[in-house]
Amino acid sequence: MSEGSRPALPDRYIRQTRFAPIGPDGQQRLGGSVVAVVGVGALGCVIASHLARGGVGELRLIDRDIVELSNLQRQLLYDEDDAASSLPKAEAAAAKLRRANSSVSIRAYAADLHAGNADELLGGTDLILDGTDNFHTRYLLNDYAVRAGIPWIYGGAVGAGGMTMSVLPDAGPCYRCLFPEPPASGLADTCETAGVVSPLVDVIGSLQAMEAIKWLSGRREEMRGDLLQLDLWRNSWMPLGVAGARRSDCECCGRREFPFLEPEEDMAAALCGRATVQIRPARSRPLDLPALAERLAMAGEVRLTPYSLRYERDERISVVFFPDSRALIQGLEDPIKAKAVYADILG
Ligand SMILES: [Zn+2]
Repeated sequence: MSEGSRPALPDRYIRQTRFAPIGPDGQQRLGGSVVAVVGVGALGCVIASHLARGGVGELRLIDRDIVELSNLQRQLLYDEDDAASSLPKAEAAAAKLRRANSSVSIRAYAADLHAGNADELLGGTDLILDGTDNFHTRYLLNDYAVRAGIPWIYGGAVGAGGMTMSVLPDAGPCYRCLFPEPPASGLADTCETAGVVSPLVDVIGSLQAMEAIKWLSGRREEMRGDLLQLDLWRNSWMPLGVAGARRSDCECCGRREFPFLEPEEDMAAALCGRATVQIRPARSRPLDLPALAERLAMAGEVRLTPYSLRYERDERISVVFFPDSRALIQGLEDPIKAKAVYADILG
């Protein structure tokens, strides 16, 4: 159906506009807003669903990963077909949400957010939602948002425990005021080491989406001003006041230094949740996937889709290549070995 022939949908948001604090004015503001969701895993699926169905203007979905069977326990937008096709999460989520609300402009970015593409992916947004599963991306997000004066909403979930907080320009602490440095590798619980239960991500993602809707509909004064910690298994709900927690000596919002936005070297990073390493060259260059597929077909099994090329190198290791020369090496946890596999294949 063409844009012009689509019928008007005045009643689509009727339950939301009838809720007095949002009302038709708030709905109009929502419809004019541009929002990015960084990471469309468990939290991101919940956040993106609420925002797409609630009628934001433009929704950018950013995720570097592909759908796998072990995601389906908690990542509510995906199904077994998506996993069998190794679809990029950003594309799979966008396809589902376009069917839920075709009036929202939904953009999929199957990309790793980094210093070199942050402007392209996050520039011009009214709000950024954190659905990441790793500290590096979260610190980068904090640096970017504070520098640009864009609000962002932090969320984290491991085991049955989670946290969320809104970082607003010119008010309260930023993420680094409270957590000055990322924890040393291996010291923090992750979904890999501690698992994660599905109702938790629903709750944390919904709390993030609720604050997002308040901000975007012009109800900033109604937003929570705390760092909320909760544990759904132990039934604890603990809001920590953070009004006085902004530090004038904070490297980020106080001294306005943004080390996570410095250009990076080639990166190899183990992904949370399973034996996979991502390789991302510092300078992305286009990779001709069909040509590569032809060359690799002699060596192993290949599967080419419009978004990626999957290559079964042997029984243990498979590699998924993306058009920007990024790759996921599956079956390895050691970044150095993964870099070697990447170099073996691409030279
Ligand atoms: Zn700060």
